[in-house]
Amino acid sequence: MSKNLVVILGDQLSQNISSMDNFDIKNDTVLMMEVANEIEYVNHHKKKLVLIFSAMRHFANELREKKINVIYVEFDKSKKTFTEELENQCKKNKPDLIKITHPGEFRVLNEIKNWKDKLKIPVTILEDTRFFCEIKEFENWALSKNNLLMESFYQLMRKKFKILVDSEGKPLGGKWNYDVKNRKSLPKNHPKIPLPIKHEPDDITKNVISLVQKNFSNHYGSLDSFWFATSRKDALKSLDDFISNRLKYFGPYEDSMSSEEKFLYHSTLSVYLNIGLLEPREVISRVLEQKDIPIESLEGFVRQIIGWREYVRGIYWHLMPKYSESNFFDAKNNLPDFFWTSDTDMNCMKNCLQQTNDEAYAHHIQRLMVIGNFSLIAGLDPKKVCEWYLSVYADAFEWVELPNTHGMILFADGGILGSKPYAASGNYINKMSDYCKNCKYDVKEKNGKNACPFNYLYWNFFLKNESKIKDNPRLWTVFSNIKKMSKDKKQLIQSDSEKFLSKTIPK
Ligand SMILES: Cc1cc2nc3c(=O)[nH]c(=O)nc-3n(C[C@H](O)[C@H](O)[C@H](O)COP(=O)(O)OP(=O)(O)OC[C@H]3O[C@@H](n4cnc5c(N)ncnc54)[C@H](O)[C@@H]3O)c2cc1C
Ligand code: SF4
Repeated sequence: MSKNLVVILGDQLSQNISSMDNFDIKNDTVLMMEVANEIEYVNHHKKKLVLIFSAMRHFANELREKKINVIYVEFDKSKKTFTEELENQCKKNKPDLIKITHPGEFRVLNEIKNWKDKLKIPVTILEDTRFFCEIKEFENWALSKNNLLMESFYQLMRKKFKILVDSEGKPLGGKWNYDVKNRKSLPKNHPKIPLPIKHEPDDITKNVISLVQKNFSNHYGSLDSFWFATSRKDALKSLDDFISNRLKYFGPYEDSMSSEEKFLYHSTLSVYLNIGLLEPREVISRVLEQKDIPIESLEGFVRQIIGWREYVRGIYWHLMPKYSESNFFDAKNNLPDFFWTSDTDMNCMKNCLQQTNDEAYAHHIQRLMVIGNFSLIAGLDPKKVCEWYLSVYADAFEWVELPNTHGMILFADGGILGSKPYAASGNYINKMSDYCKNCKYDVKEKNGKNACPFNYLYWNFFLKNESKIKDNPRLWTVFSNIKKMSKDKKQLIQSDSEKFLSKTIPK
């Protein structure tokens, strides 16, 4: 009987993971490892470290309860890489075969591909079947298309899995996409929105919090009031809570922002989906079972999971490693210090950054239209921005972070993922949030020392990059306004931007 060593990574915490298929309880062993390199390769938020380690430890206990033999390697500075630790374990256990589910990062895949030669043991890498779309299937779709925009991929997934379609394969409600109904700002006297449930840390989580406090106090972010679920049982409670308390209004207020409401009607489920405590299929089927949910909420939510989430993963594996190397606008600026300290007079940025520091969470529009928009129009270096996003959010894994950051917000891929750069002036932020009313800057002012920096940086971005994007049909209005702009106005925009950037961007 062959003896398999099944390696389970920190974002594969699902009992249905493909590497556990045909697990032989008498002969096989699961190996889970907390190694230094995975903690230190970027400045991960402390809450992200607690989430992953605690969830791994809970998962190992769940496996043990099922009489599965688990070797769990707890953190110790001397345990550097997966490969080194695996080598130690193979010497002791002498497996015939190593099994692992396809990892979520290119860097880790490369490491795994070297195991066979290094360890002289065969290695099987299995498809990650938690996703709706296999890597190869996405690749075939991508190779058959001239452009890779999300909408046609999303419709394909809806038809294939018969989600929100009628018996003839037509979309329920008559439209594939209700995006136009997802853009309401939160009214002034909107009732308080129920917060996501907070899970009290148990003894396992408390131990991990102490470990992180002791060993990684220099990492980014606050450890106060840790509330994430770290077990499947609690993650399921979070799913119920979202469905009962926030799903109904998810759609209409999806794009809004509020200094009073950190989470609005968002699910906060990405953290659990991305590490395996919840599976996308079960989340979708639970949501579709609900009665009386308006179509703009139902479709809006489904689009995020079977559309965007699957699509960015497909893009990542289809285009890596070259994808991360492009820099369409040749943007080279360093990150301002306030990305780490939240200390800025721009109230929108301060709010979103402080929330990121406190919660290891910001919702999509904060990531996209505030921090992301600023990163784009301030010309920040894509590699540095990607590293920041990968560090600071508890749900950040490269397969999902990179396409969103490199492609969606920075347009560093030159337009593979988005049809135009998501640049916006202060007007957009003012329309969709209450941030501007408490800001030192005046959102109505276009130039001068009181003017909202988003206003002049927005025009400066288009002036600077005119030759690269002026023929984009979706930017026709922008460039026809630029044509009408006086030379003096252009100079004012450029000098305000230079002054702001020279004060803000470290050399
Ligand atoms: C610059 C930038 C970086 C991002 N980095 C990450 C990241 O590292 N990890 C991550 O999971 N998401 C990332 N996103 C996508 C999105 O912002 C988060 O998934 C979402 O904010 C998570 O909060 P939620 O669970 O409350 O989402 P909800 O608003 O409740 O959405 C439901 C679910 O849909 C999925 N989803 C929604 N939008 C996207 C998207 N654009 N791409 C992929 N999945 C999506 C998530 O699984 C999410 O849980 C990023 C977006 C931007 C603009
Ligand atoms: S005025 Fe400008 S900087 Fe201030 S909150 Fe509004 S958009 Fe942000």
